[in-house]
Amino acid sequence: MIVNKPYILSGAEKTTPEVTTFTFKAQDSTTVDFMPGMFAMLAYHEDGTGQKISRAYSIANTPNSDCLKFFISMIGGQLTSKLAGAKVGDLYYISAPYGQFKFDINSGNRLLFLAGGTGLAPFYSMLEFIISKGAKPDIVLIYSVKYSDEIIEKEKLEGMIAQLGGKLTVTVTRPKPDDVWKGDTGHVNAQMISKYAPDVKERISYICGPPEFVKALKQALAGLGVPEREIRAEMWG
Ligand SMILES: Cc1cc2nc3c(=O)[nH]c(=O)nc-3n(C[C@H](O)[C@H](O)[C@H](O)COP(=O)(O)OP(=O)(O)OC[C@H]3O[C@@H](n4cnc5c(N)ncnc54)[C@H](O)[C@@H]3O)c2cc1C
Repeated sequence: MIVNKPYILSGAEKTTPEVTTFTFKAQDSTTVDFMPGMFAMLAYHEDGTGQKISRAYSIANTPNSDCLKFFISMIGGQLTSKLAGAKVGDLYYISAPYGQFKFDINSGNRLLFLAGGTGLAPFYSMLEFIISKGAKPDIVLIYSVKYSDEIIEKEKLEGMIAQLGGKLTVTVTRPKPDDVWKGDTGHVNAQMISKYAPDVKERISYICGPPEFVKALKQALAGLGVPEREIRAEMWG
């Protein structure tokens, strides 16, 4: 059931140069029932003018908490510029949950997660959820970022993947000339998927990120012979 209620901003932490992690606590301290992968509508209500700005954000934490966490790319748009000036204690409205991008822990024991930028958010929720359930599926996560300093909550991410015995590959699409990055570079493609998940046809694939990322990877997976029914995707924009 979708619930719309007031939340108080309880944390805003600049996680990378472009991304801030926002945490909102339900004013009534009750939880929202959602499946990892789903998103919420975050709304700012301007005092006096009655103006409302509402945008979709994937939920980055596990269910069963009275808080909702989002990884937000601070692009200076309508809502993100309000958030840039937000202070702990500010009031927002959040309705949730929405979407068909839902992680089903029983869907398969071999998983491929493909994340583009802040498209990492639902995978954070999934990883926390899997750990909380004590499950140990075989996870390959390929995570694409523009710059090497854009890895969101890097240590926590590495810690969760290590705890699950999974495989994490980060690829940097726009390495800078003075970059010390020694890992993969370039966009995720069929070749990269085959390298890190040679058994891709036996995996359930989840993709989340901007439209061009999702479209390209759906095509890449189809080209590798992955049936459409084994692919779950969330496209932004
Ligand atoms: C299901 C769903 C889940 C989403 N989850 C997230 C999430 O977890 N984190 C997140 O950050 N966003 C997420 N988004 C995007 C989010 O809803 C907003 O669109 C985004 O935050 C911009 O809102 P805004 O009001 O600040 O910008 P607006 O005032 O709406 O302006 C957006 C404008 O900026 C342009 N733009 C878009 N992206 C960029 C960019 N990276 N750099 C520069 N310009 C850009 C667009 O073309 C558009 O013209 C999600 C979208 C959907 C549909």
